[in-house]
Amino acid sequence: MSIKVGVLGAKGRMGSEAVKAISAANDLEVVAQIDLGDSLDQLIASGAQTIVDFTHPDAVMGNIEFAINNGINVVVGTTGFDEKKLNLIKGWLAANPKVGALIAPNFGLGAVLMMQFASQASKYFESVEIVELHHPAKVDAPSGTAARTAELITQARRSVNKEAMPDATTSALDGARGAKIGDVPVHSLRLRGLVAHQEVILGDLGETLTIRHDSIDRTGFMPGVLLGVRKVGSTPGLTFGLEHFMDLK
Ligand code: NAP
Repeated sequence: MSIKVGVLGAKGRMGSEAVKAISAANDLEVVAQIDLGDSLDQLIASGAQTIVDFTHPDAVMGNIEFAINNGINVVVGTTGFDEKKLNLIKGWLAANPKVGALIAPNFGLGAVLMMQFASQASKYFESVEIVELHHPAKVDAPSGTAARTAELITQARRSVNKEAMPDATTSALDGARGAKIGDVPVHSLRLRGLVAHQEVILGDLGETLTIRHDSIDRTGFMPGVLLGVRKVGSTPGLTFGLEHFMDLK
């Protein structure tokens, strides 16, 4: 029996890739393709068991609430989640305890691994900084992935009481030392010719370590989306981050 999936934002850049990838998988089936202006009732009529949402930060919460209240699992790639929104989702899930919800800021398996490797390594190095590099049409800086990496690194370093990173800067031009997220400076580059890239650079006495991930094409997100769709139905409650669906022990 294949898993019946409804794709929201089906005409968008990510949503249309998701429709292709899910349709090509033998164990999954696209039963609804919903875009702006379409009724969510299609999800009920089509018997969707799970939705994949790549819409817009302004639309996604309504979609999630509808799905959860109708017993449909959710896999969300749309960005823009904060503590307040996650708590709202937890409330809806509490009233529907069998439903699973995965919110994944990044579906790239390589990107998720880069974040994990970086947070592990950061416990062993005196200093760590992030450089994220993207195409010039990107509207937000730093990227969600860079922000998440910085948070994970901050948590990892605080868990082992790592000392503050040395930095003798006493005068600097605005922005020269990047934006600080948690304890980590993050630097954003915007250049034509780039897609989506990130380097985490770690330094200590006599050595540096650079962990780099390059996202070259949207198809790179699809193995992560499929993993999410396959696992979310057997993982009730809220899961934030695809790493929790990967065997990283
Ligand atoms: P996009 O090309 O603009 O696609 C969004 C689609 O959703 C559009 O077709 C849009 O229609 C439609 N839409 C808007 N509101 C809707 C609603 N209420 N119900 C159903 N459909 C609706 O954007 P994208 O590049 O695919 O990105 C979509 C989201 O995914 C963004 O938040 C982006 O940051 C995120 N993203 C996440 C990952 C990840 O790995 N987690 C990776 C890449 C992108 P209109 O064009 O008519 O408005």
